Amino acid sequence: MLGILKSKGEFVLRKLSMVISCISIAAMVAAQVPTTPPKPTLIKAGRILDVRTGKYLTGQGILVEDGKIKQVAALADLAGHVAKDAVTIDLSKATALPGLADCHAHLLIAALAANARNNILDAVAGMSASERALLGARMAREDLESGFTTVRNVGHSGVDGDAALRDAIEAGWVQGPRIQASCRKLTPPGGQAVHLNPALAAKVIDLEFLPVGSPDEARQAVRENRFYGADLIKVVADDGSRFVTAEEMKAIVEEAHRSKMKVTVHATTATGIQTAIDAGVDCIEHGDAITDEMLKQMKDKGIFFDLTETFAGGRLRAFVQKSVVLSPEDEQWFAQYEGFVNREAPLRVQRVLKSGVKFAIGSDMWFDYPGKTRGQATAIMFASLRDLGMPPRDVIRAATSGAAELLGWQDRIGAIESGMLADVVAVSGDPLEDVTELERVHFVMKGGVVVKNEIH
Ligand SMILES: [Zn+2]
Repeated sequence: MLGILKSKGEFVLRKLSMVISCISIAAMVAAQVPTTPPKPTLIKAGRILDVRTGKYLTGQGILVEDGKIKQVAALADLAGHVAKDAVTIDLSKATALPGLADCHAHLLIAALAANARNNILDAVAGMSASERALLGARMAREDLESGFTTVRNVGHSGVDGDAALRDAIEAGWVQGPRIQASCRKLTPPGGQAVHLNPALAAKVIDLEFLPVGSPDEARQAVRENRFYGADLIKVVADDGSRFVTAEEMKAIVEEAHRSKMKVTVHATTATGIQTAIDAGVDCIEHGDAITDEMLKQMKDKGIFFDLTETFAGGRLRAFVQKSVVLSPEDEQWFAQYEGFVNREAPLRVQRVLKSGVKFAIGSDMWFDYPGKTRGQATAIMFASLRDLGMPPRDVIRAATSGAAELLGWQDRIGAIESGMLADVVAVSGDPLEDVTELERVHFVMKGGVVVKNEIH
């Protein structure tokens, strides 16, 4: 965590330079007090990406009122009915698209690569809940500044840190994306990915996970998360050779759906994935061992697949080497890992695209990435997916309209259409040609409030 604290000065400087480059004092004031509805705004868009068709609309304007998109129409037509005091934002040289979503975020953890064995423990046992909440506030702002206007936070946020962060953002205390929060992950007994003396583990594990050892405990865990403010339930179906049982998974789904909460499942093994599918969950994360038959079952049941392919193509090694010198054993591990990922991940992406299963994408970014803000580190996933063979149009759709449907917010976000919340980002180039344009988001509006405008 030291890395985070050390770079605080740098962060303040970056924030200051952003302030100086902001378009207007009015937008600044609006950004600081998001509870005050901003003035009607006309965005003159060079082109708008219709993420549903994958086509550009040109010569359009976006009329924003009360935080929502009131109308999208030819600029000439809009000019007539724009209020006199409306603010105009000139994006005529840019490409506008809907605000981006990260469907697999961990805003309240920033692990260091240097402590690979127990970096989750660093956050859980080495930081207080208050420290983690403040870390989350920083990560949320950094995500938003990179164009992520919506985040689905799926664990590693203490007991209720992500729910509190969601509420703080909605109340205007801090800036950040819209958040769907899962609170604690439901796991097999022992939690997930922590290495502790089992005789001493319970107190630490309970700070981060809700271990379930029976269907009754599973139901109780869902209800406890609900009580703490969770929007959805995250389950860890498999951790090594420890599994949530079929009966427990069914109990979780039944109890969550009773409270209108979706269930999303970390599953990397065939056993974990099949258990989740059979129980009728809403989404599967990672899905390393997914088969064509499983994809077909998911499609038939309407289960989403959330791909988390951020570190393909040697990106994990590149990240780790920023802060660690690899030992010969590490080199060997990376060679094996990369051989596996380079062989399997492109095939998995192609099979997902062919299967017709509904999918979204998530970063699973839970690291303190040297030299990058959390938003910049999150945006690595776009190039990674491109390298695995996913066409830019599909990448963008997965991070906008696909994500919206996964979150059940398809009537609020994920497209630039009248009636949607005014979550709009813009890039200088052509993201359908070069999807890494999404790493360079120069304009961010959330709910009609300008967060950043570096378009000149
Ligand atoms: Zn994760």
